[in-house]
Amino acid sequence: MQAVPAPDQVCEPEFPGRVGRHRTIQCLAVQLVLLVGMGALAPLLPLLPRELEGLHRYGPVVALVVAGTLAAAFNRGRVALAIGVLAAGYGMFAGRGGDLAPAALAVSVFVPFSLAGLSLVAERGVFTRHAVRRLFALALGVGLSAWWTADGTWQFIAGAMPAVSVVGIGLPVVQAIAAMAAIGATAHALSVTRTAIDAAFVSATIAVCAGGLLTGVPHAFGFLVSVGAICLTVGVLQDAYRLAFVDELTGLGGRRALNEKLLTLGERFAIAMVDVDHFKRVNDSHGHDVGDHVLRMVSAHLARTGGGGRAYRYGGEEFALVFPGKSAREVIVHLERLRASIEDYRLQLRAADGDDGDARSGATGGRQARRPGALRVTVSIGVAERDPRHLLPESVLQAADQALYRAKGRGRNRLSR
Ligand code: GH3
Ligand code: MG
Ligand code: MG
Repeated sequence: MQAVPAPDQVCEPEFPGRVGRHRTIQCLAVQLVLLVGMGALAPLLPLLPRELEGLHRYGPVVALVVAGTLAAAFNRGRVALAIGVLAAGYGMFAGRGGDLAPAALAVSVFVPFSLAGLSLVAERGVFTRHAVRRLFALALGVGLSAWWTADGTWQFIAGAMPAVSVVGIGLPVVQAIAAMAAIGATAHALSVTRTAIDAAFVSATIAVCAGGLLTGVPHAFGFLVSVGAICLTVGVLQDAYRLAFVDELTGLGGRRALNEKLLTLGERFAIAMVDVDHFKRVNDSHGHDVGDHVLRMVSAHLARTGGGGRAYRYGGEEFALVFPGKSAREVIVHLERLRASIEDYRLQLRAADGDDGDARSGATGGRQARRPGALRVTVSIGVAERDPRHLLPESVLQAADQALYRAKGRGRNRLSR
């Protein structure tokens, strides 16, 4: 039975910015550690020395301005609007002289709901018609929330509702439901899109919900709004890191990520170069889209190479595998397994791909593999290790490239040293 690359590894292009499951968890974990770490400091805020009192007032403003500017600079319309929502929430709070109580429900319902709404819509940029329409809808929400605060509607709703206890703090049930619904909605959006920015929407929503919970702690709401803005900033930066270091098509590290990895290698390592055989023919006979599918399939296999090998897209249909702490002899078994698994794999083509077959691209094996709609590709591999002739990672990489061309010369679908 041949291993089926996880859909997670075969990077799907329909959500720009989508990253693998591991990277999603990593992005969310960084933000949540930041959130919990900073959130734990909230009860200490009243102890801030007098000289630093200004931080309470200006800290959130600075965090919001920085986050908003960054979101606009990176053309992240949803984040820019989310910062606007946080600013409006903070404005309602600050406008009441820093007393959240009269506006608590307005802020605790409007802000999380708006963040949830923004997490569920697609990114459409900052200076676009979509952004203006969304801004208008959010402004209506702000106006309504402020109006209901001024005429006592929120207080009436809060009074008419039973209270529930959340971590020992009594909350109007509507606030607890709003928090749960909003966090649930952002988490759902993250599970579908798996982008660093959607992870930041989850973190920022948790931050403002926690802020609404801590109305008894002076300055805590403004502080947690700042934490929410910082989480969104981190999300934008994590997404920018992906743009710079991760290859969009395959989800593997790109050339820059490879160059950084080479700088970290020690005295002992091996590098393999992998190239798809006759790839131009795949493009020519089945089209560029099928070519892209093949690259994603090959990448999924590469990402699972054993022996501690880390895969990168070197360019086009060429990949590099870096094995820190290993000799060429030690990694050959893993490379042979990789070569064989790609050779055994059958990519099912759809009718639209210029061939018959079912509508799914994925592994089959055995009987189905011989159906006419199945496409098979092979790879050639060259491997080299650090030795007295090749001391620098770059020269080991060149040696692996020369070995790859020997593999091509010997008939392809093989490994050379
Ligand atoms: P060889 O066995 O000698 O490696 O032959 P080859 O056809 O694989 O190599 P060649 O260098 O002649 O062709 C590589 C092709 O890869 C040409 C280029 O159009 C295609 N290619 C490069 N990047 C991409 C990509 O991102 N997507 C697709 N679909 N094709 C790509
Ligand atoms: Mg090739
Ligand atoms: Mg090539």
